[in-house]
Amino acid sequence: MSIVFFGDRFVDQADARVPITTHALHYGTAVFEGIRSYGDGTAAALFRPREHFERLLRNAAWLEMRVPWDAVALTDLTRELLHRNGAFDDRYVRPLIYKHATTIGAGLPAGDTLALMAVPMPRGPVVRPAASAGYSRWHRFPPTTCPTGAKITGLYVNSSMARADAIARGFAQAVTLNARGEVAEGYGANLFVVHGSAVRTPPADADILPGITRATLLSFLRAQPDLEVSESPLRPDELASADEIFLCGTGMEIQPIGSLEGVTIGDGSGSGPVVARAAAWYRAVVTGVEPSDPGWLVRL
Ligand code: PMP
Repeated sequence: MSIVFFGDRFVDQADARVPITTHALHYGTAVFEGIRSYGDGTAAALFRPREHFERLLRNAAWLEMRVPWDAVALTDLTRELLHRNGAFDDRYVRPLIYKHATTIGAGLPAGDTLALMAVPMPRGPVVRPAASAGYSRWHRFPPTTCPTGAKITGLYVNSSMARADAIARGFAQAVTLNARGEVAEGYGANLFVVHGSAVRTPPADADILPGITRATLLSFLRAQPDLEVSESPLRPDELASADEIFLCGTGMEIQPIGSLEGVTIGDGSGSGPVVARAAAWYRAVVTGVEPSDPGWLVRL
């Protein structure tokens, strides 16, 4: 039985239940994160928990939420969660803060509950096999409708439908466009595209969720003297002529795309030189083999 943090204490997961009238269930009024912990069974470390929890709290502010923890306290709670579960293997930690009011009616009623859970999520191969991708017919929300870059549960109907749409059309991954028709990202991951030595990723104002993995990879790629790296708007036709396309996110890690809408990308193998180099570095950093910025890895 796994142990979760729920409200103000650690409980068995089976005892962490919500009433059917819970506001967040009806109106999507919750915020969440996905954080990875990499371990060898006896020792493990969280990757960039401060950045994840700071983002969680920033997003919570959009929903006028109040919780009595800061990013440091949330990291401590996560450490305790993993210790209580004896979870020193590869885990995915899901913090969730939701509006627990049981009144019917849209709005931002006061009263927020924190839940923290950790599920096993083994690391993938350093360079994953290439995946097929297709454009989702569901575009990203424009920023005039909601804070597009926030991990607010209600907004994830877009990701969920984009993913289902891609799968229904026979693709493994979705590429989403924004309302202007520019390339945005995946359904739960950011996108990089490579043409020769030019590496590009859509900028924050392309209505993406600017991911922590994206920021991590940008720091590595920008330090490579042979690459020119930019955050710049991308048109769909520019993806068709790419040498490499890859997605990146905490859960997905790094996922090369071998074909987009049936058009082969590069040689279709998904193991182009840039993605191979970035993926090897990323795995070495998240597992502590390669030194990284102080504070990125927080040991349990
Ligand atoms: N875009 C979306 C829509 C996501 O849900 C995620 C996962 N949080 C990402 C991008 C990647 O973000 P990160 O690298 O911070 O996990």
